[in-house]
Amino acid sequence: MSIVQEIRCSNCGAPVKFNPGEIVATCRYCGFTQVIETRKAFDFEHSVILNSYKPEQVDDLVRNWMRGGFLKPGDLARASKILEKNLMYVPFWLVQATATTTYKGVFERLTPPVSKEGKVEKKYNWLVLARKATEFPTREYDVPLDGKIPYDFKKIEGFSKVLNSEIERDQALEITRQQIEDAHRFLIRQDIDKIIEMKTEFEIGTSVYLHAPIWLVVYEYKGNVTASGLMEQQE
Ligand SMILES: [Zn+2]
Repeated sequence: MSIVQEIRCSNCGAPVKFNPGEIVATCRYCGFTQVIETRKAFDFEHSVILNSYKPEQVDDLVRNWMRGGFLKPGDLARASKILEKNLMYVPFWLVQATATTTYKGVFERLTPPVSKEGKVEKKYNWLVLARKATEFPTREYDVPLDGKIPYDFKKIEGFSKVLNSEIERDQALEITRQQIEDAHRFLIRQDIDKIIEMKTEFEIGTSVYLHAPIWLVVYEYKGNVTASGLMEQQE
């Protein structure tokens, strides 16, 4: 059970609710984003991707999603019943980073094995989910970044829920570094079998705090109730 707490918005004085673990909150009434602990304005660029579905169109989104993907039962779209659909704006950190990994290792698929070295250098717009809790299903969201605009509370639907961040920027940068390094390790393993040395250097650019719309859909299929988070996909 979570205990909802409340502070006053430092900008307009309206109540701002938050749950334990949340550290950055956005006011529903004026869009002001503040750090809960200090009540100070948040220093980073805050963006939003708007939702373009009306609640009555979400059924189509869900049915299309149900029809795709080979792991889903063939009659899922026909035989399931949508019980609930809620629009949530989920927080992410979008981190610009250039990562350069230099490595040395051994290619063992030949006899005799060969020593190899190389470099992987890539530029990223890395997305980090700014939530720790698992109140909605964890899956990778393909966030359509082209639609990103400065956060505008007037465009946020009254029936939607804007989730607060549980991850601060420094943590997001740390997660970015770890995840990119893991991705590079995976790439390097295509080139060599044994890594002897590997070093990654990062050049971190701008970090943007971003709310993206996700429809949390609860449906019943053959007596089982499942929740799934769906995001509008880029054309
Ligand atoms: Zn406010």
